[in-house]
This record gives sequence, structure tokens and C-alpha cells, in this order.
Amino acid sequence: MTKYIGKGIYDAVALGKISLFKRKKVKIESVKVADKEAELNRFEKAKQSALAQLEEIYNKALEEAGEDNAQIFEIHMMMIEDEDYNDAITDMIGLQGFNAEYAVSSASDSFSEMFSSMDDDYMQARAADVRDISNRIISCLTDSKTEQLSTEDKLIICADDLAPSETVSLDKNKVLAFVTAYGSSNSHTAILARSMNIPAIIGVGKEFLDEISDGQLAVADGFSGELIIEPDSETVTLYEKKLKDENEKKVQLENLKGKENITLDGTRVDIFANIGSVKNVDEALENDAGGIGLFRSEFLYLESSDFPTEEEQFKAYKSVLEKMSGKKVIIRTMDIGADKQADYFNLDKEDNPALGLRAIRICLTRPEIFKTQLRALYRASIHGNLGIMFPMITSVSEIEEIKEICKQVKCELDEENIEYSEKVELGIMIETPAAAIISDRLAPQVDFFSVGTNDLIQYTLACDRQNSHVDRFCDTHHEAILRLIEISAENAHENGTWIGICGELAADTTLTERLLRMGIDELSVSPSFVLKVRDKVRQIDLES
Ligand code: PEP
Ligand code: MG
Repeated sequence: MTKYIGKGIYDAVALGKISLFKRKKVKIESVKVADKEAELNRFEKAKQSALAQLEEIYNKALEEAGEDNAQIFEIHMMMIEDEDYNDAITDMIGLQGFNAEYAVSSASDSFSEMFSSMDDDYMQARAADVRDISNRIISCLTDSKTEQLSTEDKLIICADDLAPSETVSLDKNKVLAFVTAYGSSNSHTAILARSMNIPAIIGVGKEFLDEISDGQLAVADGFSGELIIEPDSETVTLYEKKLKDENEKKVQLENLKGKENITLDGTRVDIFANIGSVKNVDEALENDAGGIGLFRSEFLYLESSDFPTEEEQFKAYKSVLEKMSGKKVIIRTMDIGADKQADYFNLDKEDNPALGLRAIRICLTRPEIFKTQLRALYRASIHGNLGIMFPMITSVSEIEEIKEICKQVKCELDEENIEYSEKVELGIMIETPAAAIISDRLAPQVDFFSVGTNDLIQYTLACDRQNSHVDRFCDTHHEAILRLIEISAENAHENGTWIGICGELAADTTLTERLLRMGIDELSVSPSFVLKVRDKVRQIDLES
């Protein structure tokens, strides 16, 4: 029995046989071609096949992992069409007479090197994407594919690293778990694995691949991050029991559908879902979410090549409100900036974009963009129970300015005889330390608070959420974070304002009791976590 330790990124266990993930190695040679035109056509044909494959992968990811996670493949499609990338390849073929494989491989090297040398973590991560799309075109040129899993058994897939497209291309019905030598918990692959509900361990170290072989029995423990090769009979029995318990737990969670989110002492809490698009609403309803606690509206902007029109936005918001049939729907105004960039905003390059023109700061700087979104939101408000939430708030004056703009928008709608609901709740995200600290002054201004712990952690602990190197300094349970939440809850309640949490911490069941003791009224989590959190809530006794 041999044990390897990595980082578990999805809490589940697997017991089964190992399959080493194999990529067919293609040797790229530089060859001069006689017919440049024919070679350019070969490249174009391979590019089109690669695009068709990506379209298929995108649809698969959309189905299995949701829109936010599928987006990476849209980005890949855009990258394949990128003018500079294409020019580099076609120049090498058309002007210099090289073969297409060599031209693609050279463009891949130079573009991925360029991305790797950039300071920005997000741009560095694009290097892997360039290699991924280039390998796809090369495999179309050479007609070589990654070997498919050709067994009836479900397997524990072990790899050095998996590209997002490789992760999603694997037949989910044949994968028991993913284990990789490298990878970071914020990588797209990790996020995809999590949203596909597959146990996964990353960062096991490169030696393990030389020491294991296909068909060996293994345990992948996503809770502890352990990969156990050839477990002894005692370990097998232990994990068989854990698997049985897990399956029973799944059935138990299913049985919680339709039940209340109530503690043993009778305290109720709302458990809502976070979504990134209209399509995610079905998942929220399937998992019995009581409402939508965060609709990240910026995805409407990110999916678009230009500003989404008022009409496009209105349709999306109306559709979510209608599907939720009167349940609360909190739509956050667009949180563009930092890691969520849309070119057509033409924002200046910033040295510290997370501390820059982001979210509400863009809205208040360019009110015409903000007003279009607010008009769409107010128009949609008659179709359900809407709350509008504003991100990245740091001061009272921002709220005053926002409210003034909302007033103008409503006046304009009145003048145009366009209906809107008077019951729309206005709320803010508590995601900067400033907002938490002056929450006594912010609370009287709004109907609700929602704590964005992802950013609150980043800004309080000075840990860039995109930077995997500071993972270990980023203690999500840091006392400073918990105190800021507690202060906000006290100030909210003293002013008759309700308070929820929509950051990832809302799904952390080791904190549920503490959060409920603070008086948190609502927890908004990914749809797949709704029942888990309900289960936890129902076991808590706040009077004990
Ligand atoms: C947060 O910051 O916790 C949050 C919910 O917003 P986002 O993750 O979209 O920044
Ligand atoms: Mg945030």
C-alpha cells in the first residue's frame, strides 16, 4: 500500500482501478511544402474541425457543469479565431512555406511564452489555453486523438494535469475520480471537476505517475487529499463503508426536498441559490432553492461582444423572475472589472484591477451603462419578486448616488407610462472591509445586505483571489472575516435590514452554526449545495 498526498478539491471518495491518462505524442517536424495554397487549406480545414469539436465540448460542459464553467470553451473558440494567432500561422505557411503542423506548433510556443511572461496571473493562465487549442488543431491535422477510455469499468483518471477540454471530454459515466500531479484549486479544471460532482485531488507531485500503473486498485479521498495505491483489505473495508455512507447520504439529501430550513430549536433561515445565467435557474429549482440570492448579471455582458441592450437584459431578467414564480430573485448589477473583463468597455489597463475601476465604480462613472441595466431591471420587476443588489460598495455617498439614479430611471419610466413594481428591494454587497466597518451607517439606507465573502476575504487578508501562490495565507475562517460578518449582522438587524451571505463561505457547513448564531437570515450557495446546507441547518440546536 502506497500513499500520496495532494489537495482534495471535491469532497467525495472513490474506490476503483487506475487509468493513466494518455495523450498520443505527435512528433512535429519542420517540412517545406511545395503547394502553399493546399497547405493553407489543410490548416483551415483542421481549424474548422477544431472549432466544431469545441462547440460540442461547450455544449457538453454546459449540460454537465453549467454556463459559467462552459465559458472557457467559448474563450477557446475565440482564441482559435484570434487574428494575430492566425496571422502568425498563415504567414509561416503562406510566406515561408512551412507545413501546417510546424506553423501551429511554433505559434503555440511563441504565444504561450508571451502569456507566461506576463505579470498578471489571469493572463499567465491563458498560456495553457493557447497550448490546448494548438494541440487540438494539430490533432485534427494529424488525425490523432487522445485515447478514449475503452472499458466498462469506472476508473480513477491519473494525469500530470488535465486541460479543461480534456476534463470535460472524458465520459463522465466512466470517471470515478480525477487525480493530477499539478494544478491549483482555482484552475478551470478544478472548478469543472467540482461542478461535475466528481471526487478530485490535485497537486500530488509528479513522481506518482512513474510509480503507478494502469489497472492498480486505488482509493481517491477528496476529503483528505489522499491517493492510496493497492490499499490493504482493512483500508478497502473502511472505504467501502465510507462509500456506502456517502450513497446513503445522497438519498437522505434527496429526501430533504420540500422540507424546511429549520434548526432543532425552530430558527428558520432562507437557503437560496447563486446563478450566472437564466439556464441555471432549472438547477436551482431542481435542488429546491428557496430563491435566487445572487444572479451574477455580468455574465450577460461577458457573453456578449457589445453592451447587451435594454431589451436583451429585460428578457433575461423577466425569464428568471417568471421561472422562480414569486420567489425572491436578487439580481446583482454588473460586476465587470478585475478578473471579469469585457473588451468593449474599453477600460484602461490598470496595475491593480481588483482595486480599480470595477463594478459599481464603472456604473457611477458611466451612468448611461448603469441606467440601461436599471431600466431593464425595473421593467422586469412586475414579473416577480425582485431585489437589486449593488457590488463593491465602500461608502454612504455611493448609495445616495445610486438611489438618485434609480429615482431618475423610475421617473423616466413613469413619463413613458411603463410599469414597474414599487416593491423592489434595494441591497448592497458587503464585500469590502470598509462596508462592514461602517455597516451601521449603510444599513438604514438599504433593505438588505449580502456578504460577498470571496472579495471580503481578498480585501481583508490582502490575498489576491486569483493568485494561487498566496492560497496558504488565505485563511477563509480568519477571525477578522468572522468579526466583520458579525458586525454587519448586528448593524443590519439594529436597523431592520436583513442580511445574507452569497460568497463561498455560505456553503461551508463547518461555519453554518456560527453564522446562524450571528443571526444570518439567508445563505446563498451553488445549487448543488442547497440540500447539504439544509441538512446541516436541520441538525443545529441554537439553544444548546
Ligand atoms: C463575493 O465576492 O463573495 C461574491 C459573491 O461575488 P463574486 O464572487 O462574483 O465576486
Ligand atoms: Mg465579489
